[in-house]
Amino acid sequence: MTILALEIGPTRFAAGRISETAGAQDTREIPTPAHSAWDHCRDLLLEVAGTDRVLAVGIAASGPIDMTAGVIASNAIPEWRAGFAIEKAVKELFPHAVVLLTLDGVCLAMAERQFGAARDVPDSVTINVTSRITGGITIGGLALVGRTGNAGNIGHVLVPGFDDVCECGGHGCLEAVAGGTAMLRWARARGWSGNDGKALITSGYIGEETAVSTLERAGTALGRAIASVAALLDVDLVIVGGNMAGAGPALWIPMRRAVSDHARLGYLPGLRVVGSDLGDNAILIGAGLLALATQQRARPNF
Ligand SMILES: [Zn+2]
Repeated sequence: MTILALEIGPTRFAAGRISETAGAQDTREIPTPAHSAWDHCRDLLLEVAGTDRVLAVGIAASGPIDMTAGVIASNAIPEWRAGFAIEKAVKELFPHAVVLLTLDGVCLAMAERQFGAARDVPDSVTINVTSRITGGITIGGLALVGRTGNAGNIGHVLVPGFDDVCECGGHGCLEAVAGGTAMLRWARARGWSGNDGKALITSGYIGEETAVSTLERAGTALGRAIASVAALLDVDLVIVGGNMAGAGPALWIPMRRAVSDHARLGYLPGLRVVGSDLGDNAILIGAGLLALATQQRARPNF
């Protein structure tokens, strides 16, 4: 039984085989291609599948998506912004497979619930801070998907006190302040000259003024968004992962401060905000859980 997981992310495409225990094996990844995205995606899937008969493929995609139509319209992939029928394309590649598309944040929430910090916690929010920001919501032990599959897309929650222009066409979104791409843009406009998110984090650790201000601003925005969604959803755990969440105290101190400043309702004092320890393949593992679930449903129930 060969089951595959595919991650369509803002910075990478990744694919892997999934074992019964939902570990991702034989993973391959490429940088998110600037052109011919499907050609690269197809080659990646065929490389991982080899000559095996594939029975299920779980796809975790950066949003927006249309889960019902199996269409991805990610802002991160210009040629797919108007919509690409990825479920159909993958189905044509593996005719015997069940193919399911889900938001990357939802897959992440599923992975945290199964293997990570939310293992014993039925109500939680998971936030992934990379070049962009995605998230997933688990209520009563079940991941929320919403009407079109985009529930949990916390990157476009509005954050009071900020009005930065967002790629979604709006302004004041969390991602427009605290997403890695937005942080780099804000820091560079103020004279910081590093190359990437890793360099910004390093600059923050050594106390470089602009980097610290950038991370403080991002942490404050994250904390305000967390306080809002925790009040709305009545959760007691928020997990923050992704490469930019590794920025340490320059990000986490203002984030925790904003949470404690704003999460004041009687049911929120127990709210915990913790880092993720699932590593780089958490989204891929969540996509694998999705694919495995299709096979478990297909089995006869004696
Ligand atoms: Zn937005």
